Amino acid sequence: MALIVQKFGGTSVGTPEKIRNAAKRIIQAANEGNQVIAVVSAMGKTTDELVKLAGEMTSKPSKREMDMLLTTGEQITISLLAMALEEAGHPAESLTGWQAGIQTESLHGNARILDIDTKRIELLLNEGKIAVVAGFQGWTASQSITTLGRGGSDTTAVALAAALRADKCEIYTDVTGVFTTDPRVVKHARKLAAISYDEMLELANLGAGVLHPRAVEFAKNYGVKLEVRSSMEEERGTIVEEEAEMENNLVVRGLAFEGNVTKITIENLPNGLNTLSSVFSLLADNNINVDIIIQSVNKQEKTNISFSIDSAIFDETVQLLEQNKGQLGFGQILHEDGLAKVSIVGSGMISNPGVAAQMFKALSDKDIMIKMVSTSEIKVSTVVGQQDMINAIETLHDVFELDARVPVQHA
Ligand code: ADP
Ligand code: ASP
Ligand code: MG
Repeated sequence: MALIVQKFGGTSVGTPEKIRNAAKRIIQAANEGNQVIAVVSAMGKTTDELVKLAGEMTSKPSKREMDMLLTTGEQITISLLAMALEEAGHPAESLTGWQAGIQTESLHGNARILDIDTKRIELLLNEGKIAVVAGFQGWTASQSITTLGRGGSDTTAVALAAALRADKCEIYTDVTGVFTTDPRVVKHARKLAAISYDEMLELANLGAGVLHPRAVEFAKNYGVKLEVRSSMEEERGTIVEEEAEMENNLVVRGLAFEGNVTKITIENLPNGLNTLSSVFSLLADNNINVDIIIQSVNKQEKTNISFSIDSAIFDETVQLLEQNKGQLGFGQILHEDGLAKVSIVGSGMISNPGVAAQMFKALSDKDIMIKMVSTSEIKVSTVVGQQDMINAIETLHDVFELDARVPVQHA
């Protein structure tokens, strides 16, 4: 008997009809002789609506109360899905995050899972029931309710699969798998049969919303066999695994992009040994996530530091730096907003020099100005103007031959 975790995202449980459809797929797996744990998200756009509702009360809601509010979304879905399963003749029981034993660190709004006590789920499974678990939530050692960050239901599913040593974790969503890039943006994006954990982790971190980055991290660390597939169509999805064969002998597997990037430049910092560590420790201690960093020495004793951040945290970042201006000793802060990050990812880059050069040439041929660059072994990211983002994605998708209309040959 196999143990399977099936996760259904918001659009896949957005209406009573869709919840019944999810129930059908779960029962199908159970009838094939599997033990099934279902993990669900809030229905449709419920989480966004709850965020808006909080905004009616206050412009600065406390993170604790936001978690209390947002976790209600998933609680609606678990109960409805359990009812649908029972109605269809299969015993089921719903569990909130704490009932499912999901313990997290005490960081409201973006907590990491620390441990899962699987006893209660195992008890349900042994009684022949389907366990229906609320995604995106957990609780802390001091019994506070937490959430795992937007899109975090994927992480609940994969973490449960790891803790229960499940044979498989299936992520059911509104596309048929992981594509070369977001199929809603590039019409001829191609569905990938397989992708490696490392490539998927880069894509997820660089903005491909199809999987929560921490879900991929768990899958990689615990070797969870992961499949992303459609909740509405039967076709096989994309397998995320340790080593994925490269189709068409390509070096780039996919593209990711993010539209809300701001570049901050701190001018005329003292050019000392501790400069970088003082600036970035301050930001890190205040949970400010910095992305690409560039340092340039302008005069002998002065240096400029530029870095990119998510535009949503611009105000708090500048405020924090200004509060510490005396101690850091800089001149002024400049910024450029309206930027976007476009990245290419592929494990083939390790053994193929010149991929970055090819990317830069393709963008400059289209008169797209590159403002920042960062690379790792398997990715190159560029920051460009937001107005150039779509053009950049389409250009790179073409140049690296990712189009669905190119016939697939296996390596
Ligand atoms: P769910 O509610 O099921 O968790 P999400 O909206 O979080 O669904 O993720 C699915 C969406 O991810 C797709 O509708 C698609 O627009 C987007 N997406 C972004 N990049 C990719 C990609 N490379 N492959 C597939 N989908 C992608
Ligand atoms: N409902 C949460 C969100 O919208 C979690 C999830 O869907 O994964 O972010
Ligand atoms: Mg999602």
